[in-house]
Amino acid sequence: MLGRLKIIRRMGTVTDNLLEVLTKRDEIYKSASAEKRAVNVPRLVAVSKTKPVELILEAYTAGQRCFGENYIQEISEKSSNPELLEKCPDIKWHFIGNCQTNKAKTLMSCPNLAVIETITSEKLASKLNAQGGERPVSVMVQINTSGEENKNGLDVAGGVQCAKFIVENCPKLKLIGLMTIGNLGNSIQANDKGENPDFLKLIEVRKLVAEELNLDEHQLELSMGMSNDYAEAIKMGSTNIRVGSSIFGVRNAKSSQDSAQSQAESKMEQLKI
Ligand SMILES: *Cc1c(COP(=O)(O)O)cnc(C)c1O
Repeated sequence: MLGRLKIIRRMGTVTDNLLEVLTKRDEIYKSASAEKRAVNVPRLVAVSKTKPVELILEAYTAGQRCFGENYIQEISEKSSNPELLEKCPDIKWHFIGNCQTNKAKTLMSCPNLAVIETITSEKLASKLNAQGGERPVSVMVQINTSGEENKNGLDVAGGVQCAKFIVENCPKLKLIGLMTIGNLGNSIQANDKGENPDFLKLIEVRKLVAEELNLDEHQLELSMGMSNDYAEAIKMGSTNIRVGSSIFGVRNAKSSQDSAQSQAESKMEQLKI
């Protein structure tokens, strides 16, 4: 009885889960690259939001380097955590949440901040740029591909314009690609209905941005794919998958409330309420 319980617990360790995700990623990438859809092994961002420092340390020890957070206060605290600073010198933080413009300084001050994936306005880009230091911070423009009210991000035209704005006006930011969340229903349906329309839309936006900026489209990344749909995303050419619960386990209910709250605040800011 005890032995059985132990086995069940062992299967759930962060290290085991991480290896499972990486193995699946590599397998899917292999077939996608054979079909010439994917040209780089997608980076895995381990989304550690709401999860304790010990689990981040465990994943880092297992070889994981990129971690994603989507609350400003949490990325600020974790990135400055003395233990993580000491034991994880190569850690790379990805910010994947809503940043209100008055939090630009806090975000840009985070040690080891590597990528801000969620630029949703020219105003935010300007504020972040104004806080930039010596080394440019990589950024992506978030596209609301599913057009859902409760999701952040720009529409197609707005996204192209914002990407251009960053390249032309924000020397402290380096545009590296585009990011989307997409509609959960679309990712579930995609399993039997062919390709996820939200991911197709992000690919289309990348094409438009590349044309506008005179780039090869493969110079721009696609951040798409979460626990539920990263397999599909890799098949479609994702270069950056953001996986949380499949690695760290389910999050408590509070986090989705916080997320809804933060999205609502962002909408209010956009509407200038
Ligand atoms: C929480 C979150 C993820 C990870 O979600 P899981 O379903 O737990 O893998 C990915 N991207 C963003 C923007 C998130 O907020």
